Amino acid sequence: MNVHLVHPGEGMAPWAAWETLSLGREHPEPSHPYRGEYQRDRDRIIHSTAFRRLVYKTQVFVNHEGDHYRTRLTHSLEVAQIARTAARCLHLNEELVEAICLAHDLGHTPFGHAGQEALNACMKPWGGFEHNLQSLRVVDELEERYAGFRGLNLTYETREGILKHCSKRNAKALGDLGQRFLSRRQPGLEAQLANLADEIAYNNHDVDDGLRAGLLTEDELAGVELFSSHWESVREAHPRIGRRELVHETVRAMINEVVTDLVDHSRTTLERVHPADADAVRRQSRAMIDFSRPTAKRHRALKSFLNKRLYRHERVMEMTERATAVVTELFTRFMDDVHAMPRSHADRALEGQESAGDAGRARAVADYVAGMTDRYALSAYARLVGESPDLEMHAQLMRDQHE
Ligand code: MG
Repeated sequence: MNVHLVHPGEGMAPWAAWETLSLGREHPEPSHPYRGEYQRDRDRIIHSTAFRRLVYKTQVFVNHEGDHYRTRLTHSLEVAQIARTAARCLHLNEELVEAICLAHDLGHTPFGHAGQEALNACMKPWGGFEHNLQSLRVVDELEERYAGFRGLNLTYETREGILKHCSKRNAKALGDLGQRFLSRRQPGLEAQLANLADEIAYNNHDVDDGLRAGLLTEDELAGVELFSSHWESVREAHPRIGRRELVHETVRAMINEVVTDLVDHSRTTLERVHPADADAVRRQSRAMIDFSRPTAKRHRALKSFLNKRLYRHERVMEMTERATAVVTELFTRFMDDVHAMPRSHADRALEGQESAGDAGRARAVADYVAGMTDRYALSAYARLVGESPDLEMHAQLMRDQHE
């Protein structure tokens, strides 16, 4: 085959994730003639069922509220874009960082944080529900695509990046992968970068979506320096600009500021510490991919503003309550009657019951509910309960976006 092969790792720093030093896959596989290992991970993620469902799962807004809001799919693409840009500047492994970013939200429940908290409450007697752990479960066990193994059989480094947070109790059951949460060590730099790219993406696009939905106003945001400084300078530079362009130019400048700071600050740290390789990175007790202090502060101020004003906005809270009721009802009904689920899920629940009792059954029910998209959960609820939950925050939202 006449393919031009770029050596995996060309142009990378010594502290990046070199494929030659990878801890590999659980089930060894022969290498591919022209795709690197992290590239294969990325490809497997894109072709997974869980990835396709991200398009109908929400961040803050329920999926059917409007076509212009972020969904988990578009969010994941934005995260990957930000992280790849920074990875290239820092000479890290761009393919690995992309794989991690595209997979980071695969375990999210329908209805964003509300759904996740509801499922966590339902699963309380049986070990709880953690969305990061669920993302790992999706790629390790739940995807059914290969003849030789369950899951996607991803490399250790991609799995390490997907598991961003984990409780100590669950970390203990994960062996090597959970060790860093017990000994307070760091993951590789690509995982650290994906983590911050996630924060940058949602903080900034929630400003955009929040303004679009009319849940936030620029007057309220005037107190947030990261926003107001750019808002003012865009306005000065373009006095006749329309509001939509003004918002986009501002958000664009905000993202640019924090990403540039992240790259500059992390580069300085890496050059100072000069870890010998990715393993030396893992032995550090502090992350080396980070913002400078002043930018970290500006970014945190935006985050806490959004926590108070957007995520706890009464219209969002109203939707949250209804989403909680839907998820709780679905879980309870399937737990009582596993045959109300499709055959394959019912079989898993019965197998779970046999091997681990109620905890095994509950885990299979949680897997089924967590895998649902917003619209699938709504129709399952309507079918089982006989009424449609009213999850539209406001018909106004739809009108706003088509103006
Ligand atoms: Mg995310």
